[in-house]
Amino acid sequence: MAFEPWPADALEGVSNCPYCNGADRSLAYEGVQDWAFGSAPGRWSYWNCSRCQALYLHPRPTRASIGNAYTRYYTHSGDQRTSRLSVFKQRLRNEYWSNTLQTSIAPRLGLPRWAAWATAGLKPRIAEPFGLRQWAQLPKGLLIDVGCGNGDKLKLATQLGWQARGIELDASAVQAAQAQGLQVEQGGYELLANYRGQADCVVCSHVLEHVHQPLHLLQLLLASLSPHGVLLLSVPNATSFMRRHYGENWRGLEAPRHLAIPDGAWLIDYLRAQCMRCTQVPSYPLETAVESERIQRRGGAVLPIDLRNARQQLRGLASPDMAQQDVTQLVCTWAKA
Ligand SMILES: [Zn+2]
Repeated sequence: MAFEPWPADALEGVSNCPYCNGADRSLAYEGVQDWAFGSAPGRWSYWNCSRCQALYLHPRPTRASIGNAYTRYYTHSGDQRTSRLSVFKQRLRNEYWSNTLQTSIAPRLGLPRWAAWATAGLKPRIAEPFGLRQWAQLPKGLLIDVGCGNGDKLKLATQLGWQARGIELDASAVQAAQAQGLQVEQGGYELLANYRGQADCVVCSHVLEHVHQPLHLLQLLLASLSPHGVLLLSVPNATSFMRRHYGENWRGLEAPRHLAIPDGAWLIDYLRAQCMRCTQVPSYPLETAVESERIQRRGGAVLPIDLRNARQQLRGLASPDMAQQDVTQLVCTWAKA
């Protein structure tokens, strides 16, 4: 992978932590490149905030130039592998989730109810997508997915009975979602301001780390919730056990698109101070480990050796406690509700 420099006039200095506004910091990693996708130019430095443990870029791309980091970004493609095997696997997973959560997610295998035992053995092999349980079990209403990409989650939520709407910055992703009949508006997260107090469920999955003003996004997320609304928030954890293990090769970095990654424990404290009650859901670290193995050898595509190495590394590591999860996944409601 060859990397051009990021144009100097398209960089801005960051004097204070984007999460806690603290000025004290130490250099965490320098010379980090877009090893995740091999597309964005530049060599980047990440800093550790001494006050809240967030990890953030300084300097970073300006708002006007950040779009150049997304020219070959994965959620922006409408393409999906539709081999017979992958279609079968999706149906198998849907069958399993439909039975486990007592709902119906299509397309599934269509096994009769008495045959549910046939998929029960899959449990250890199928990671439940974060939010699925809540979408299946909560009373249905207006759901907003901020940064919805090409709308996979919206499609699922619609199937489960939600009135689902998406907000997405990227025009081609919006087109791909609209082509599937999904309701998606093109624009930044600021569009959340149109839903003040209305949303019964707000989904913000892997978006917080991408924005220049994450606290502003958090404020708009909370303001859009109805009195009984639920926020489903997921974001890499700056103090992840995977980060400690893989260092600058940790998949969670993703320079220069990940501008600022919060510490999970700090984020929970922040939300509690905003009168939220948060429940944390543990995350599955295998995908991060596989990708980090690929990045460590500077490979462009995942190979079987990455999976083998990742499994071996994970076997050797102690199970992380909640504060060290690789991804902070939170289900938040108003404490008063
Ligand atoms: Zn901080």
